[in-house]
Amino acid sequence: MPELPEVETIRRGLEPLITRQFISDVEVRERRLRWPVTRNLAGLLRGQQILQLGRRAKYLLIKTSNGTLLVHLGMSGSLFYLSSVSKPTTHDHIDISFRGGSCLRFNDPRRFGSIHFTTQPKLHRLLTKLGPEPLGKDFSAEYLTHVSRSRRVAIKNHLMNGQIIAGLGNIYATEALFRAGIHPARPAGRISAARFSGLVQAIREVLNEAIRSGGTTLKDFVGGDGRPGFFQQSLNVYGRSGDPCFTCGVPIKRITQSQRSSYYCPRCQR
Ligand SMILES: [Zn+2]
Repeated sequence: MPELPEVETIRRGLEPLITRQFISDVEVRERRLRWPVTRNLAGLLRGQQILQLGRRAKYLLIKTSNGTLLVHLGMSGSLFYLSSVSKPTTHDHIDISFRGGSCLRFNDPRRFGSIHFTTQPKLHRLLTKLGPEPLGKDFSAEYLTHVSRSRRVAIKNHLMNGQIIAGLGNIYATEALFRAGIHPARPAGRISAARFSGLVQAIREVLNEAIRSGGTTLKDFVGGDGRPGFFQQSLNVYGRSGDPCFTCGVPIKRITQSQRSSYYCPRCQR
């Protein structure tokens, strides 16, 4: 599942390729994604120039002269930039073609992704309730302390709530808690401001490291024949249940929180 660092890597990779390009046509072969693709996408986008590529949580925001395309990759979506259009395969649902013959292709076997066109992205229902970006300046220890006050919710679940922080995935929440030495089941309201400060720093570190490791495999993505290898990033606890902690040697434990696996070191995390 494409997580925030993967979406950010895709944004950085696509930006120089599609910015300033003019859209010549759009072909939607399958409208039934997680939500139906905006009707008449071709009519709305034809002739428009791509001005900017942004990101909010796990949404890619493709700004054109008259609006913004909100793209979510869901569980299994990919975007491929093709320098010349090839014959689409089964799950190639949407092609955005540019003058000059290149094309941006959306592929999604499980169809949990989505594509919306909007003229007011800041007011779009999918974005209005999102909390601050974990890599943005609004996300700070003060903020986290404030929104955690008297909250009994487990810190891991708190971090996975998109209204608290935008788009932090399970792997990154799990790894950041290990780095900060915080037990995933600890009530959010019982964490000191000093420890939140360490947690904010840990969250930024794990995301930035993942973005950097994604950047190294960008070539494959741009070539349209592969996907960034995000799991090359070394994981301290995620998926390591029963293996010794790299810091203290105690076996890593796994628990389930809100139907998601959490991994932690019972000695290093309190
Ligand atoms: Zn340990």
